[in-house]
This record gives sequence, structure tokens and C-alpha cells, in this order.
Amino acid sequence: METTQESHQSIVKAAWNKRPLIISGPCSAETEEQVLATAQRLANTGKVDILRAGIWKPRTKPGMFEGIGAKGLPWLQQAKKLTGLPTTVEVATGKQVEDALTFDVDVLWVGARTTVNPFSVQEVADALRGVDVPVLIKNPINPDLELWQGAVERVARAGIKEIGLIHRGFSSYGNTEFRNAPMWHLAIEMKRRMPGMPIINDPSHICGRRDILLATAQKAIDLDFDGLMIESHIDPDNAWSDAKQQITPERLAEMLNEIVWRREDVSSETFHMALDKLREQINHIDDELMQLISQRMHIAEKIGTYKKNNNVTILQANRWNEILDKAVKKADKLSLSEEFVTRYMDAIHMESINRQNKVMND
Ligand code: PEP
Ligand code: MN
Repeated sequence: METTQESHQSIVKAAWNKRPLIISGPCSAETEEQVLATAQRLANTGKVDILRAGIWKPRTKPGMFEGIGAKGLPWLQQAKKLTGLPTTVEVATGKQVEDALTFDVDVLWVGARTTVNPFSVQEVADALRGVDVPVLIKNPINPDLELWQGAVERVARAGIKEIGLIHRGFSSYGNTEFRNAPMWHLAIEMKRRMPGMPIINDPSHICGRRDILLATAQKAIDLDFDGLMIESHIDPDNAWSDAKQQITPERLAEMLNEIVWRREDVSSETFHMALDKLREQINHIDDELMQLISQRMHIAEKIGTYKKNNNVTILQANRWNEILDKAVKKADKLSLSEEFVTRYMDAIHMESINRQNKVMND
């Protein structure tokens, strides 16, 4: 498919604004054949808006495949020519920005290991000055929203108008279900802080495996994410990086069919009326909960005064164990999860301790 420069720009714009925005392609560009075949098979699905491929790969340990380098950029150019798909690559240095732009990469993304480092983000931002290209910014590997927001601000100050976020999960120590813990509440908070900024989910790097990809992607859509970035490969098991999490273009198409696409808003009036009623009930309950919690804290303060007058410690482990034990048993009867009730009681208990601490020491 031959397109002119100008019409390609409008394809990029349309892709950027498409909802859900679907980005897919290999973790790494490996060979020209692999890039072209992946691009063609992705294009054949008719479901992908932007083609991704890692050219420079920030790997945890030396001696692993660190990306094919600038040599792979013409392959992406070729893939674009072949399929009409806009392209995106990860950039971590000023030179990489220059090289990517020289080879007409349409969208750039800042990786998690770069967002974490303000020096690198600033270098990328400086290289972007005066350039009109959309930039996606992955969350930093550590759960620090200020760093994520800081990276967005650095890129915005360089004059980039079209900025989006990618939620790819956060590093943690030890083996868990996820390669990178999603910590959905952080992505939700980032959405709240940056209203109107597109945020897409990268279930591939969150999961690190194929069997829970669909459920994770579905969760993102249920949380009103604007799209998905999912790694795909013509021969996933033999990929040179991230082999465990990649899927074939055809499996991607199937998965996208299996997802239930939900919208944040629908226009049906009866739906809104029913929703408003239920929300009103929730508002009342929240109000009552707050009042009860406030009462509880006042009582805790009174106890604090008694403890102070009798020189008794704030924390009494037996009493706390007893409360927690009772709460967990009750939770089961009320079909509340043990995990939730424990977290909830913990927060209440900590606040009681803080209040009593004030009573005792102020
Ligand atoms: C990638 O997208 O292949 C990648 C390296 O991602 P992240 O920056 O999220 O680790
Ligand atoms: Mn990867």
C-alpha cells in the first residue's frame, strides 16, 4: 500500500485518536523477515492500529540480546510501506530519538527503565524540542507517580502536544502471579491527575506469561483504559526477548474478539436513571461510614486518655489480634474477602494508634 507523506500523517493522527487504540508487534525487531511477516500478519487481522518493535532493548543483565539497533529501523520503514501501519519504538537517549525520527518512526515511547531516571527523560525531551511526534510514556519500574508525572511534564515542556501513558506494572521482589504488579490503583490515580490524557495498558509486561493476558486486558478495559499494547511474534516461543509473554498475530486477533469492550458512558436514559439511584444509595452509605469511623476515632481518643493516665502502652497485641480475628470471621459471613477486611482494619487501627499517640504525647 503506497501512501503519500501527507496521507500517512492523517493515518497516524487517526490511529492516535482511535479508541480502543491497539498497538502490537514484537518485543524486539530481530530480522527483516520477522518484522515484515509480523507486520503483514498483524495488518491482515484488521485490528491493529500501530506496529511496535523494540530496536534498542534495555536488558536487566549483560550478555542478553540488547536489540538489533539502528540497523532495524529501515525494516520498520519497509513494514510501514508494506502495510500502511504507523510505527512506534522505544527511545532512551537523544541519539535514539534522532535515529528513530530519521527513519520516520511515527510514535515514540519512553520505557519503564527510562521514566525512572530524570536525566534520561530530560535528554529524550531535549531531543524532542521542535519536533511534532506523539510520545507515549510508560510508568517507571517503581511505584512512584511523581516520577511518572515528572516525565510527562518534561516531555510536555519540550513542546510535545500529543502525550499518552502506558501502564505496564511495577517491579517487585520475589515470584508473584505477575511479572510486574499491576497496582491498578496507581494507574487510576494517574488517570485522575491527568484528565483527558490517553492511557493504555500493556498486559504483556504486567503478566510476563500468556495464560493471564486476556483477563488482564479485560480488567484494563473494564477500568476504562483507552487501549492496549500487546507483544506479538510470528514464532513466540523462539522470540529473542520476552518469549514467554508473546502471542501470534492470529491469537491476538482472537483475544481482541474475546474481550468485552465497555464504554465509560452510554447515552440510554433508563440506564442513567438506574445508575443515579444506585449511586445515591452508595453516597448515603459512604456518608454513614464516615460518621461511624469518626465516632470510632473519638472513642479511641478517650481510650488514649485512660491509657495515658494509667501508663499503659497504646498497642496491646492480644487485643488487636482479637479484633482482627473477629473481623475476619465476620467478613466471611458477610461475603467480604479476608484480604480486604484485613487491609481495612489495618488502616482503621493505624489511624486509632496515631490518634492515641497524639493524646499521649501532645
Ligand atoms: C518493551 O516494551 O519491550 C519494554 C522493554 O517494556 P518496559 O519498558 O515496560 O519494560
Ligand atoms: Mn518486551
